[in-house]
Amino acid sequence: MNRIIILTVICILILSGMANAQFTKENYEAVYDSIRKIRPDFEKSWEVEDFEFSMDAATFTFGEGTIYFLNTIAGHTIGFYFDGKGRCRVVGPTPIEKFSIEKFTGEKDFDKEFDDGLFFFSQDIYEEFFSHLELRSEEKSGKLNSRVKRFLGKLKDYSIDAASAMIPRLYTSKENPYLLTIFDTGDDFVFQYDPTNTESVELVEFKSVMGHQVIEVITRFFPSEHYQSGKDIYEREQIDQAYPLHYDINTTIEQNTDLIAECKLIFQSNQDSLIRLWFNHSDQIDMDSVKTSDGTSLAFDKFKEDDAYFSTVFFNRPLMQGEVDTLIFYYESGDVIKKSVWGDFYLLAPAGWYPELGFRNKATFSLRYRTPEWLRFLSCGDKVKDSVDGDWRYTVWENKDPIQVVGFNYGWFDSLTVVQPGLPEIKIFRSDASHRGRLFGPNMLDVTAEDVTAAVEFCTNVYGAYPYDRLLVTEIPLAHGQSFPGLLHLGWASFERDDRDKGFEMDAFRAHEVAHQWWPTIVHFKSYHDQWMSEGFAEYTSAWFVQTKDGDNKRFLRLLDDWKDIITQKGSLYTGSWSEGSEAGPIWLGGRLASTESQDYSTLVYTKGAYVLHMLRMMLHDYDNHSDDNFVRMMQRFVKAYSGKKASTRDFQDLTERYFGMDMAWFFDQWIFSTEIPRYKPEYEVLEEDGNYIVQATIKTEDVPENFKMVVPLVVEFENDSHTILKFWVKGHETVYRSKPMPYKPKNFILNPYKAVLCHVD
Ligand SMILES: [Zn+2]
Repeated sequence: MNRIIILTVICILILSGMANAQFTKENYEAVYDSIRKIRPDFEKSWEVEDFEFSMDAATFTFGEGTIYFLNTIAGHTIGFYFDGKGRCRVVGPTPIEKFSIEKFTGEKDFDKEFDDGLFFFSQDIYEEFFSHLELRSEEKSGKLNSRVKRFLGKLKDYSIDAASAMIPRLYTSKENPYLLTIFDTGDDFVFQYDPTNTESVELVEFKSVMGHQVIEVITRFFPSEHYQSGKDIYEREQIDQAYPLHYDINTTIEQNTDLIAECKLIFQSNQDSLIRLWFNHSDQIDMDSVKTSDGTSLAFDKFKEDDAYFSTVFFNRPLMQGEVDTLIFYYESGDVIKKSVWGDFYLLAPAGWYPELGFRNKATFSLRYRTPEWLRFLSCGDKVKDSVDGDWRYTVWENKDPIQVVGFNYGWFDSLTVVQPGLPEIKIFRSDASHRGRLFGPNMLDVTAEDVTAAVEFCTNVYGAYPYDRLLVTEIPLAHGQSFPGLLHLGWASFERDDRDKGFEMDAFRAHEVAHQWWPTIVHFKSYHDQWMSEGFAEYTSAWFVQTKDGDNKRFLRLLDDWKDIITQKGSLYTGSWSEGSEAGPIWLGGRLASTESQDYSTLVYTKGAYVLHMLRMMLHDYDNHSDDNFVRMMQRFVKAYSGKKASTRDFQDLTERYFGMDMAWFFDQWIFSTEIPRYKPEYEVLEEDGNYIVQATIKTEDVPENFKMVVPLVVEFENDSHTILKFWVKGHETVYRSKPMPYKPKNFILNPYKAVLCHVD
């Protein structure tokens, strides 16, 4: 008995000893290097004739040609180079992915022939498809070496890191499939299958636009099991390999804006055998080293050397599910903070100044800064220390409640504090540098404070209470804004532009940025697909705020008109040949709507997203009492249910169903997952019946499928100058609606008042 136990203990010791040797920095770096310089092994080639293999939605066919396996790494075959007649077919599993493939290739399915390609795969894929091949040796060929080198160079140029992806597949025995292939059809395409990503399947094209490398996403979707299981085709639980728990970031910002930092991250593994994680950050961050809490240096890729927007870190032991560990990142940047021509400062990547684990996953933050003494410094959380020693200012900011992202701002600011019952303390900071001499306009500190306060009050009323004790609104020398918990970056124009200078709608801009404190800071969107619930909601808030502030609908309706022009491309000031409007794709494509085909991310995610919220509001609107109570209750409920969480489009849809009292799939299918905009052609008849009047409206609908439907309001004006608003379903290509008998004689009709539906009316 004892012997067995002792033997077992010895075995475990030996195994773990071996494991430790394997997981050293030196070992990782050697393997990493050899993958990046891998070449064909001319002793192992295979003459191919009509060989085919499928991976998820992709099928690769190898007609005549030769497969040359690559040199083995740690005894494993990890890939091959193919020279011959190849073909790749990828079938999009959803209507949106079919749309996307057709948009970029002109065909419903991706189907292209290629002349050669480089394939990397995990051990399980090798064994399933390629291990049985009978191999022979070939003449060494310089051409093949140079083609392999070319493909590796392309992957590197476009930041696709085959080595980082392959290493976990080499080091851990568990099933962990992975396929990466780059093939040349005249253009370079890359197909990847990686189940550790929520969207495991991806096909992209490498493009060059005016000297810039652009990765065009042709299609990207969930693994086939998801669709086969009958689950919602547009919703999947996010996969996170690990979660951040606490960040402790110690940052020095030098007089010359150089940033030097140490970030200690406590995180928890969410899977077994975890040996690698990647962290997002600005490509201006230079990672010097990554260490464990006992000071052991870890391997991390300095992929693309100076300008990587992520770091991949390899651990010195595999972590098990639930295990908590610590990493310390040491990094610096001479470029992540810029100085404007006016002499004030801004962050090139407002949230990219520290290594982020996952996408906006919540954690607590301790933030310590050493900054030039003469500048004010502002960040997120409770400021628990602010002291000066010589030329340096030391501030410490604690965030004991988990938040998703942190930022800062600093400069030479004028400030104003607004204290109003029921609202957080609001502090406005206007950069003195940007406006010295007031070359362009008056001092807008007061006006900004007034609008920001009104917008905070408005959002509190319609969405619910602001959860942080204070809101710091700080100027940046850029045109946009950015929202962090309790901290807002607000573009300089807000502090410069006179509101009488109409057309700029500066109050709407301020309200848009304030609304971001709710969307996404309080309720975060789940993935890029759901970003309309941040930008669209903020954009709609800005118009709704303007409507409430003005007390009439003039500007509000003009904004809606502008939006419709932008969405439908009817000659708006803002549209151009680079925009396809709603034709560019469904809102759900999110960031993918910005492509080399058209730049419609903002057209659709901001503008159409805002219009979608307007349609929901108007469907819930009580026209008799001019009340939005139902809509407000719905939005407040949504904030309450998802405060501090991530919400998806489907989460929002589920919630709307409770307030509409019906399945709302039809609405989201039409407006979020499809592209059509209806064109209504109404005709009216007035029928007399027993001294009463009946309106019969015949509405022909074009440009939409037969199952398209919408609730459309109709204003009926009577001869006695009173009016009523009727609401009815317009379904399919022709709807005949008959009103109830009415005592007054109608004289005029206006379909779609308040621009309640995004549509054309002829
Ligand atoms: Zn925005």
